[in-house]
Amino acid sequence: MFRSILRALPLRCQLCHHRLEEHRTSWCEACHSTLPQSPRCLRCGLPAPYEIELCGRCLTTPPKWDSLTCIGSYTFPYTTLLHRFKYQRQYWLADELASLIATRIDEPASVITPIPMHWRRRMWRGYNHSQVLARSLAKQLNVDCEPNLLKRVRATRQQKGLDRQSRLTNLDNAFTVSGTLPKRLALVDDVVTTGATLSQVCDLLRSNGVKHIDIYCVCRTPPPQAGRKN
Ligand SMILES: [Zn+2]
Ligand SMILES: [Zn+2]
Repeated sequence: MFRSILRALPLRCQLCHHRLEEHRTSWCEACHSTLPQSPRCLRCGLPAPYEIELCGRCLTTPPKWDSLTCIGSYTFPYTTLLHRFKYQRQYWLADELASLIATRIDEPASVITPIPMHWRRRMWRGYNHSQVLARSLAKQLNVDCEPNLLKRVRATRQQKGLDRQSRLTNLDNAFTVSGTLPKRLALVDDVVTTGATLSQVCDLLRSNGVKHIDIYCVCRTPPPQAGRKN
């Protein structure tokens, strides 16, 4: 019903606002073809001159996860799209973003789970955007979404703006696991910045028997500038 009403309305491209002829996607073909997509290291997700299994950075300091799939760097238009998805309740963007991630995954993990939010923050925002994204992604990949495998038991300060040491202590014992964990698991997050949160979760998962961890996210922030470690 809701969908049929939506289809009857003239929809506009969410990026350039031109009227859309078809309602299959949220942006026009021209905008879709210009969505920035650059080759990346399949392990850390950072840009590389061409798609590679392991970049030099990963050879010296391998991330705690086994693979990271993202759409692009955290720059326009993804910054705008994610802002709308996270703060303006444009939930339907989850399907669009998930489909862009899904096309990059060849052999998905059979179970995926979102990075959880502390209940207070979820209550404040009304929903966990990573969970909405994980559900959509699971549906498109035809795998299971198990949203309650991880729990955030301690509210943490925003990682943004903290130095490396504070980032690490900020996350101490922030998460717990519940239920039986699969041997291979994929974690879904919106943006991976330093990876400090994910590293913490990876340690916890490995100590609970998980052998292979994939990360599926919308964006990976561009590599840190020299002098700004982590
Ligand atoms: Zn457009
Ligand atoms: Zn790498």
